[in-house]
Amino acid sequence: MVSDPHTTLSQRLAGSGLRLTPQRELVYGVLLSQRDHPSAEDVFARVKGQLPSISLATVYNCLETLVNCGLVKQVNMERGPSRYCPNLHEHAHLHDEISGRVFDLELPADLAARLHLLLPAGYSLSAIELNFHARPAVPLQEAAAASHAEGQEAGAEKPAPTQIAS
Ligand SMILES: [Zn+2]
Repeated sequence: MVSDPHTTLSQRLAGSGLRLTPQRELVYGVLLSQRDHPSAEDVFARVKGQLPSISLATVYNCLETLVNCGLVKQVNMERGPSRYCPNLHEHAHLHDEISGRVFDLELPADLAARLHLLLPAGYSLSAIELNFHARPAVPLQEAAAASHAEGQEAGAEKPAPTQIAS
C-alpha cells in the first residue's frame, strides 16, 4: 500500500467522522519520522519545536485519536508510560532493558498466522501484543573493544579471556 501520509491520515480521520487538524497531522508526522516508540512526553517535546502553542493535553488527545482510528499502536510495557508506534504490520517489540529503547521485530507471516490460531473459538481478536524484554549479552563497551581487537593485525596477541571461577 503506497499512499502519502497526509492522504492516509485524512481518510482514516474522515472514516471516524473527524477532521484533519494541523495538530493531528504534526503528531502523526513526528511518529512517522522517528520510529523509536516515543512516549507522549517525547512527542510533545518534538512537536513543540514546530508548534510552540501546542499543549501536552492536545498531544495526548491527538495520540488517542490516532490510536482509535487505527493508524498508530499504543505499546505498553509493564513499567513506564505508553509508547506509540506507527508500524501497522504485525510485529513484536524488543525492549532493551539496559538502554530502555524499544525496537520493532518483524514476525514471520506463518508465525503471525499460528498465533491467531491460538485464540479459542468464540473470541474475536482485538490485538496481539508480543514484547521481548532483553539485554545485550555483552555490555556495549566490551563489544566495541572486542571488535576493535579483531581489527588488529592477525597474530597480534589478544588479551586472555577473563576466567570465571567456578
Ligand atoms: Zn513498533
